[in-house]
Amino acid sequence: MNLKDKKVLVVGLGKTGLETALFLHKKGARVHVSDMSLPDKLKNEIDLLGSKGIETESGGHTDETFLWAELIVLSPGVPFNIPELKKASKIGIEVISEVELASRFITKPVIAVTGSNGKTTTCTLISEILKKCGRKVFLGANIGTPLITIAGRDSEYDVLVLELSSFQLQGVSRFKPDIAVVLNISPNHLDHHADYAEYVESKMKIAMNQRSEDLFIYKSDDEEINKHLSQIKAAKIPFGTALSENGVFYNECCVRYGKELYELSGMKLRGRHNIDNIMAAIAGASALGCEPAQIRKAVIGFEPLPNRNEYLGEIRGAYFYNDSKSTSPGATLSALKSVRAPVILIAGGKDKGVSYATLKNIVNEKVKVLVLIGEARQRMSEELGGNVRSILADSLKGAVESVLDNLEPRDSVLFSPACSSFDMFESYEHRGRRFKEIVENIRYS
Ligand code: ADP
Repeated sequence: MNLKDKKVLVVGLGKTGLETALFLHKKGARVHVSDMSLPDKLKNEIDLLGSKGIETESGGHTDETFLWAELIVLSPGVPFNIPELKKASKIGIEVISEVELASRFITKPVIAVTGSNGKTTTCTLISEILKKCGRKVFLGANIGTPLITIAGRDSEYDVLVLELSSFQLQGVSRFKPDIAVVLNISPNHLDHHADYAEYVESKMKIAMNQRSEDLFIYKSDDEEINKHLSQIKAAKIPFGTALSENGVFYNECCVRYGKELYELSGMKLRGRHNIDNIMAAIAGASALGCEPAQIRKAVIGFEPLPNRNEYLGEIRGAYFYNDSKSTSPGATLSALKSVRAPVILIAGGKDKGVSYATLKNIVNEKVKVLVLIGEARQRMSEELGGNVRSILADSLKGAVESVLDNLEPRDSVLFSPACSSFDMFESYEHRGRRFKEIVENIRYS
């Protein structure tokens, strides 16, 4: 791709936007950047870009800047529906995501993972397995390092493991991973996508340019994925509980893939949903030539990531879990499935416009008290209350106090918000840390 003298606008000046602007500048493009944040917040970035002659528009977007461009590159999280972008698209200006741009400068094999839940766990697991098999691995995109950071410089790696969000995939046009993994699809991010159909379509774009020599690994009993299977041109590898000739299969004891049986006793990942993640990782790592013995060793030794169904221990005879990374009802559903009833569930946070109805049955079945916080608490109480007592709390600390008022030995206390954290916290990590601090305090009180 020749970028020399091309007029390129980068939208969004976070870590990825900054790297993208610098990359484009190095390639000889004429670069402008536009961001909604006020100049004070972006001072360092604006100064750095300014020193290279890159102009930044901040505190809002203008038509003039957008219509000036010949190519627009979006940072992750910038929605496609901003008016200036629509106008630019309408007159034929190409709009792509940073991942699309970066992928045009990538030469090494790519395994790309998407899904509504489980992306980070699965990508990290795949990366650990591949390292155990002696490969030099780049792990990044939606986690850690943006892909643009290694664009044109990926020769030091053997393989790239990419976590991709719906936003990143919405802006791809030619991106073609050698192996695509779709873990599951359930409602999420409806505050940023026009509707659920657009969200699903974005996820499935991961495979749209694949050909018969590529691989498509997917959850076999996912309704949404199954609806789109006829469009897939890559060789398909399903995973799930259904026995299939070419797929990965789990039968309450072991994972079977082809002739190999993976007996997983001793592994630290908990919950049925993690078996899905393991099956997907086994299929991906096998396709990349890893030996079963090494795969098994890496799976058994894998340390679960914090904030994902993390067991905090026994306090006053009850079992406490921190699942702060749950930012969608699908994630909370899997967390509820993997803890023992009776459950006291603390949920709520920033409302993302999704329905919580998918949780209704399991809440009725396993939850004895719902403690709800944040912007979404009223709507959650209306959708999930009914048969189960719900308590609305003003803070996370207040929520834990309500838990203690209702706590009995052998209860499971699950903090699994099903919402994003930004109404009360800086991030899900901040929210998880706060929960752990509060829980630690009661342990010693
Ligand atoms: P993501 O990167 O997609 O957000 P994570 O691996 O960080 O995924 O996990 C996020 C949340 O989803 C956690 O709360 C975890 O318990 C839950 N989860 C993980 N894997 C799955 C899965 N395969 N299906 C459903 N829920 C899952």
